[in-house]
Amino acid sequence: MSNSEELRKDFQGKIAELQANCKHESVTDWMKPDFLSGIPTIEFKKCNTCGKIIARRTKCWACGNWVEEPNWIQGDGSEKIPIGTVFCCETHKRLYAQTARALGKEVPPWIGRNTGTF
Ligand SMILES: [Zn+2]
Ligand SMILES: [Zn+2]
Repeated sequence: MSNSEELRKDFQGKIAELQANCKHESVTDWMKPDFLSGIPTIEFKKCNTCGKIIARRTKCWACGNWVEEPNWIQGDGSEKIPIGTVFCCETHKRLYAQTARALGKEVPPWIGRNTGTF
């Protein structure tokens, strides 16, 4: 007799197996995660077959252009850039750091939270 915990583990195992064997041939357009509605700066693509998130993109904080993982560069904290702040290139990362320093700029507190945790 299975309890709900066993059923859940069985289900998760089957999903993991499906995702591992899937070639992700059919994917969605860019979509926003439900739990981030109202925060427009991260989007993802999902496989229509197995449901796995196979691509993520977010906006460069210096120029506002979309930048797709793994091409994005995250702030490392050494220039007072919160982890999770994403840039399209090193030049824009430096630009952001310069601007932030010059203005004593406030960085929204949710930047570091939602950009590496799917
Ligand atoms: Zn798939
Ligand atoms: Zn940029």
